[in-house]
Amino acid sequence: MDYLKTVKLRIKLLLLFTLVTLSLIAVSFTGTHYINKMKKQIDILYFKYLVQNIELNNLKDLYIKINNKNRSTKLHQIDKLWKTYSKHYKSKDEIQYFNYLDNKITKTNRLLKKRVKKSYINSVVSDIENLIEYKNKKAALERKEFLSFYDQVLTNFHYIILFILFIVIITLLYVFYSINKDQKEIEEINKKLKEASIKDPLTKLYNRRFFNLIFEKELKSAIRSNEYITFMMIDIDYFKQYNDTYGHIEGDNALKEVANSLKETFQRPKDFTFRLGGEEFGVLLIGLNKEQSGLMTKKLSDNIKDKKIEHSGSKVAKILTISVGVVCQKADNNLSSQDFISKADELLYRAKESGRDRFKMEGIDG
Ligand code: GH3
Ligand code: MG
Ligand code: MG
Repeated sequence: MDYLKTVKLRIKLLLLFTLVTLSLIAVSFTGTHYINKMKKQIDILYFKYLVQNIELNNLKDLYIKINNKNRSTKLHQIDKLWKTYSKHYKSKDEIQYFNYLDNKITKTNRLLKKRVKKSYINSVVSDIENLIEYKNKKAALERKEFLSFYDQVLTNFHYIILFILFIVIITLLYVFYSINKDQKEIEEINKKLKEASIKDPLTKLYNRRFFNLIFEKELKSAIRSNEYITFMMIDIDYFKQYNDTYGHIEGDNALKEVANSLKETFQRPKDFTFRLGGEEFGVLLIGLNKEQSGLMTKKLSDNIKDKKIEHSGSKVAKILTISVGVVCQKADNNLSSQDFISKADELLYRAKESGRDRFKMEGIDG
């Protein structure tokens, strides 16, 4: 059972771990995808507009600075620059204007080769300026698109993170809740197991195992606090005859009744009642002197008799009775738990010998 719970717990933790890992992978993939897309847009802005416009501006400058003296070098530079510019990628709407400008530049250059004239230059410069302006407008538009895409990515990313966080928190709560539940069940099972290991199943009194444990412990504590310690050994009279007369099941019921009387009589927190075996019981009391212990033994005996459990086979009364050996003394280091037990056993034997339905205690009889 405990093993199964541990397996379940491991599976739940694994589930949580997998979920967190998958979420991280998803976030990193989405993040990379968006960042790549934005990089592409930045590239476009840079190479398609910024670089090309610089080239166009340089071209314009070359035309402005051209004169009759420098025209062959300038025209050579213009040719070279225009070739570079022509190689760039152009959008559909740009290509028409480019073709027009290409024609114009070829024609103008041909004319300039012969003679530099202000009107030729002004016309081509104005066309180049138009292209620059067009490209500037397009760049502004693309930048606007880029910014709105950036905002959208940011918002989407926040939503994704929030969603994942929500799922992880829900799973986390579920796992914690179920771990808590499992733990409570385990605690409950452990409690029952512990109780089963120290209690007699028939009478629900402490068993002999627990008696051995607690007697040592209580004896030591009584020695430390210099208290009286009382041990009673109780045996039902003529119980064999009881079984013979009423049967084993009735015998068990009678044992339960005696056990109930023990529980009812000894209710203080430091009172311990045991079934030592068969029809033999034990009581351990702390802090009661001989007189008080004698009174309590009498009370127990009377309580059992008050139940008036019919016992026709008994030679001492027609109801169920007990005999008790009681040891009561100040605890000291010279007395072992075994001394108490053998002394009580001997006193019980004397109670039986002297007629049953009575108790024997050193100094006091009842
Ligand atoms: P005495 O007065 O000398 O104690 O006589 P007794 O018959 O009570 O003593 P004895 O030791 O001869 O018999 C004890 C009987 O207790 C024997 C057994 O059948 C009965 N007994 C022991 N354990 C149980 C039990 O768990 N259930 C039942 N029904 N009887 C039990
Ligand atoms: Mg007996
Ligand atoms: Mg007996």
